[in-house]
Amino acid sequence: MHLEEILKKVKDITQGTVKDEAEQVDKQAKWPERSIRTLQREGLGGLVVPTQFGGLGQGLMGLVKAGELIGQVSASTALCFGMHCVGAAVIAAKATRQQQKDFLEPMAAGEHLTTLALSEPGTGAHFYYPQTQLLSISEETFMLRGQKTFITNGSFADSYVVSTIGVEPDAAVHQFSCVVVEKEVPGLEWGAPWNGMGMRGNSSRSLTLKEVCIPSRNLLGEVGDQLWYVFQVVAPYFLTSMAGTYLGIAQAAFDEAKTHLMQRSYSHSGLSLNQIPLLQHRLGMLWAKIERTRRLIYHAAMEGDNGEESAILAILSAKAEVAHCAVEVVNEAMTLSGGVAYRENSRFDILLRDARAAHVMSPTTDLLYTWIGRALLDQPLLNE
Ligand SMILES: Cc1cc2nc3c(=O)[nH]c(=O)nc-3n(C[C@H](O)[C@H](O)[C@H](O)COP(=O)(O)OP(=O)(O)OC[C@H]3O[C@@H](n4cnc5c(N)ncnc54)[C@H](O)[C@@H]3O)c2cc1C
Repeated sequence: MHLEEILKKVKDITQGTVKDEAEQVDKQAKWPERSIRTLQREGLGGLVVPTQFGGLGQGLMGLVKAGELIGQVSASTALCFGMHCVGAAVIAAKATRQQQKDFLEPMAAGEHLTTLALSEPGTGAHFYYPQTQLLSISEETFMLRGQKTFITNGSFADSYVVSTIGVEPDAAVHQFSCVVVEKEVPGLEWGAPWNGMGMRGNSSRSLTLKEVCIPSRNLLGEVGDQLWYVFQVVAPYFLTSMAGTYLGIAQAAFDEAKTHLMQRSYSHSGLSLNQIPLLQHRLGMLWAKIERTRRLIYHAAMEGDNGEESAILAILSAKAEVAHCAVEVVNEAMTLSGGVAYRENSRFDILLRDARAAHVMSPTTDLLYTWIGRALLDQPLLNE
């Protein structure tokens, strides 16, 4: 299926089910069950799953544009959907035949939802230094011990892509590996439901793994080769997915402000806000800010899909820049929309709270700019 057809489908679902559910998702901090199930039913659970396993075979561009459409209506839903797609891409990158059957084919059939469980309370923003231990207890079995935090789709996903550190005496320093943990395995203890300020529907839960045993066939790639995964798969997919989501927030705020300027007129002068030069100028600046960010994000996604060497810097910049763009555009658009924008439960109430998560979701804005600087100065990206 062509990307245009896929996006038409995403748009229809977004303007229907996602829109219907969006208010409840935010108000009740409710995981967007109806929206996610509809996306899965319509084949979008396989958005980035390769076509040979029944998926739609899309890459970064498809993910960005789908996230942008959903993010305009419900950023929580875009985040939940995006994290599933990122998890799918991480699994697909080096999937064995068994993993293709166990995870990728069911995802494409809309029967399996996954997500990333990388962040930990101990290492915070530095998600690439997990402390969750992976021990080989037999040829067929690994045991995991540790704690994860902020897992989007937490307790709703069918599987979790969990990052770990090797603790065998001969394990290399920072021997980072990823495994797939299925939801039914004994020893998973979920923390309290997420009650966020924004992104309230993403069910961002913490998880304690108490001596959790999983089959060794659920290891992704080779033990310890996951730094490859971080920069080749996790970062590109995660960053572009989030870039699309936050671009959607900025666009939604812009649309609200534009509608206000078009519709509001004064009884004392008969003047409409769209006739006032300063407001015309400010709206023009907002458009330019969104458009240059959109072009950077699309360009980064295109370079990434083409496997270009320069892609990684563009991808890192895309998420750092969209974080500023979303927060600033929502703020400015609120000013342009006057007092109605400031009432509780206005569209801006949700947009402002959701946008704010962009800077703190890892890789955070500060870490992204630092990595870009290090790369330009021939310094190793990770040196903490
Ligand atoms: C809505 C939401 C959804 C999330 N979903 C997921 C998910 O699905 N899966 C997942 O694994 N994680 C998820 N996360 C976690 C997220 O990606 C971050 O890892 C986490 O929010 C940051 O950790 P922390 O809160 O401990 O920040 P801290 O580690 O306390 O960092 C605080 C600040 O210090 C800055 N900082 C730290 N070290 C440096 C440095 N060396 N240089 C410059 N600045 C530095 C950081 O940039 C940050 O701004 C989610 C978070 C949120 C808010």
